[in-house]
Amino acid sequence: MADSVPDFDALLVAAGEGVDFDGFVLERTDGGTYALETPEARETGLEEGELERALESIPAFVSNWRYWDAIGGEGTARRAFLRWCERAPLAGATAEHRTLGDDTLEVPERYDALEDGVVREWGQLRVTAELVKGGEGERRYELRHLDDADRAREELEHHEDPRDARELSTYDGKGRYRPLKTAPTLRSGWVFPELTGRELVDAVDFFYPATVANWHCERRGELDVDHWLETAERQTGIYDVIDELPREAVDWMAEACCVDSQCLRRREWEYDEDDELEPEGGDGPFPCREPCSLVVAAARKWAILESEDERTYELELTPSERNQLAELIDAVADGRTDEIREADVNDGANRYRARYLRAKRFDEDGGLKATERERN
Ligand code: SF4
Repeated sequence: MADSVPDFDALLVAAGEGVDFDGFVLERTDGGTYALETPEARETGLEEGELERALESIPAFVSNWRYWDAIGGEGTARRAFLRWCERAPLAGATAEHRTLGDDTLEVPERYDALEDGVVREWGQLRVTAELVKGGEGERRYELRHLDDADRAREELEHHEDPRDARELSTYDGKGRYRPLKTAPTLRSGWVFPELTGRELVDAVDFFYPATVANWHCERRGELDVDHWLETAERQTGIYDVIDELPREAVDWMAEACCVDSQCLRRREWEYDEDDELEPEGGDGPFPCREPCSLVVAAARKWAILESEDERTYELELTPSERNQLAELIDAVADGRTDEIREADVNDGANRYRARYLRAKRFDEDGGLKATERERN
């Protein structure tokens, strides 16, 4: 039969069951003719030859159906993510979560956009979905670091195997191990120029494990959130102590570890179901459903530290030295120490300023010279 409409025979078979996909409706009637509908027009009583000619005039709808039919996986996170990548409407989103990037495009405008490439951001990843030239609707996906958005492909290190993402995400740009995969410290300078849909989802999963699956669950209103208290109470062994962390310390912990500047997951867990934490959960597209192992390990340290009694110390500092202590703590907490130039002695966290303060105010054991006072 006709090859001017690729897979025409498959389409006729599908019409028997009825096609209703992305605004493209095709049905075979009891009389053996076809009814064809798009948002712009509806035609009925079409014989096969007429149907073929009608389909030739709407190639985008036909190839769109064919591509997604081949992708398959109805209802899966993989399919939903790939559709999100090209701004296709997503099925099954709850009203609450439709706002998460649902700036969708219908088929004709989506195909125009795919010619140039539809760009999406996923944490520090930049995904571009494109139509393969002469590929009858097939898509390819480019994956690179957001910071490399404007760089020519040739300047970047090329990768084909999605498993390479594992190694790329292990160390940051300074060669330091990244214990938290979703920390905003992913190194740049690489590109996966032509991934298939399956390869793209695999690569994203290596960079940011489980983020696609959790995003998908959330969209369907099925995200299973484990709050702090239940997570802490079920710990055993050396982590058994973390449920002793005071309530307010859990706020400080979330502020220290989970805000956007430290982690790209959007924290959805709270202290308890009815007790929200003070810091904002963040704005990232993918949710965090439970305290991660990094937070649990850090919580153990804080639980031990918080078990100490507070004491009062008296120490002598000039006002500038007191301010300098605050500047030092800020610089370390914000990961800024590497950026402070040695010549910039105006910055309290400058290395020479810190060494001077240590020489002046610390004793030979390395402790701050201070007198402990009894508390009233
Ligand atoms: S618990 Fe906090 S730091 Fe860990 S993944 Fe979730 S949001 Fe990120």
